[in-house]
Amino acid sequence: MACIHLINPSTKSFGVAVITPRWLYVLAAATGTRWGDPRIVDETLEPVDLTTIEPGDVVGIGIHTGNARRGYEIGREARQRGAWVVFGGIHATLFPDEAATHGAAHSVVRGDGDVIWSQVIADCLAGQPRTVYEGGRIDGDRFASARWDLLPQGRYMWASVQTVRGCPKHCSFCSVWRTDGQEPRQRGVDRVIREIVELRRLGFRFIALADDNFYPVTFSDLAQARRRADNSRLLELEALRAERFALMARLAELPDDLVFYTQITMEAAEDPAFLDAMHRANIHGALVGVESVTADGLKDVYKGFNLAGEELVARLRAFRRHGIHVLGSFIFGLPSDTPDSFDATVALAERADLTFAQFVLLTPFPGTVDFEKWAADEDHRKTMVDGLPLTKHWLIPEHRRPRLYTAHPTMSLEEIRLGTQRAWDRFYSWRHVWARSRVVETIRARIAFVLISKLYRQMYANTGIATDSARVQRSTRWARWIGYACRGLFLAKPMPDLGMPGEPLVEL
Ligand code: SF4
Repeated sequence: MACIHLINPSTKSFGVAVITPRWLYVLAAATGTRWGDPRIVDETLEPVDLTTIEPGDVVGIGIHTGNARRGYEIGREARQRGAWVVFGGIHATLFPDEAATHGAAHSVVRGDGDVIWSQVIADCLAGQPRTVYEGGRIDGDRFASARWDLLPQGRYMWASVQTVRGCPKHCSFCSVWRTDGQEPRQRGVDRVIREIVELRRLGFRFIALADDNFYPVTFSDLAQARRRADNSRLLELEALRAERFALMARLAELPDDLVFYTQITMEAAEDPAFLDAMHRANIHGALVGVESVTADGLKDVYKGFNLAGEELVARLRAFRRHGIHVLGSFIFGLPSDTPDSFDATVALAERADLTFAQFVLLTPFPGTVDFEKWAADEDHRKTMVDGLPLTKHWLIPEHRRPRLYTAHPTMSLEEIRLGTQRAWDRFYSWRHVWARSRVVETIRARIAFVLISKLYRQMYANTGIATDSARVQRSTRWARWIGYACRGLFLAKPMPDLGMPGEPLVEL
């Protein structure tokens, strides 16, 4: 019988990974059981073994811009082996033709795959796949739950569960609001809790709420609807907000050794009731897109709803006061950045009591407003690297790809790259990491904190910014080693008898 393969491409394999790529297990559920269990390959663990792909198999490859090139390589190989090749994910949604030209796709699924995927498989196996399937944006109550029973044991430290898709904001460097939409699509509370119970039964304590924005209704959204006397919008927003609180109240009833982590906008800091509910729900960490510490920088990325300077410090500290650790995300290379921006940003991150931070280089990702402006520039359109246009930078081999794409008004690109590297080095120095590890109490927890900080740095900084391939390889080896050393620290004793809160024990 033909086999269904689901592949998450990556050029770097670490043996273990921090967060489970949720889409693999959601599409595994969407595959159904008619064709047997799908074969799942996450290349961040191990590279795919192409000899497992047979003629007539269906190979589903999910890509974002960062791994599109590797995905295309796999697609071509799989097609050569006689398989049906299907691409999905954000990048394939944006460029369906490219997946056919470069990845030898028979089909591309645009938008959400949860509902349409089994139809795609059936069409392939009948020998009649369509070129493009429009998965669209399905309602929250149609999001598929993941097949956690297919997870390999001991390879992931964190599981991931989704509670909402879509983000009402419109940041210029981000494609989420255009691909997932600006209208939040929230999943039913019971279905979210059911998945979390299943994960805790398996021994997962740490769970990422893999949402575009966990705080989809802000005080200013509510005030605006009131100002406009738009009653139906106001009721809609209030219902969305009430659902968030209902979800958090149910999370609070789960075993209290669970730790959740999510992504949120900074506006949540002005909403103490929401932060308190998060804390009670054991949501102890959040990625907050700070982007820039100056007002001009925020204007550069259409993020005027964030604060700058000392007001920013106060707002970020509000999370910590409510027991929520922040992973602050900063962008370097903005037109308003100066040579002082790197040190000033790290200093602010430390003053604001951030527990983790990431410093990324401004990159024009397709699907964003920034990309459209950048790609319209004639100089960028004409620039070629190894015969490939710069405006399709994701097709250029990784070691030949520029680290920065836009000339800066006052700094050289190398200055920006080195400044960014310095920011990572300083924030994650042994001394600073050990000092920050005081946020946890026991020595075991402090060691876990140090290891995860170093792992984060090795996985995301050195491999992403460094231009020297020996350094990249060293970082990958380090990350692999630290990953093996710390995975056990994140798992707990399975609780096979755990029931849904408020219900007698039932089989899930
Ligand atoms: S960066 Fe965050 S807040 Fe901005 S549009 Fe993307 S998901 Fe929304």
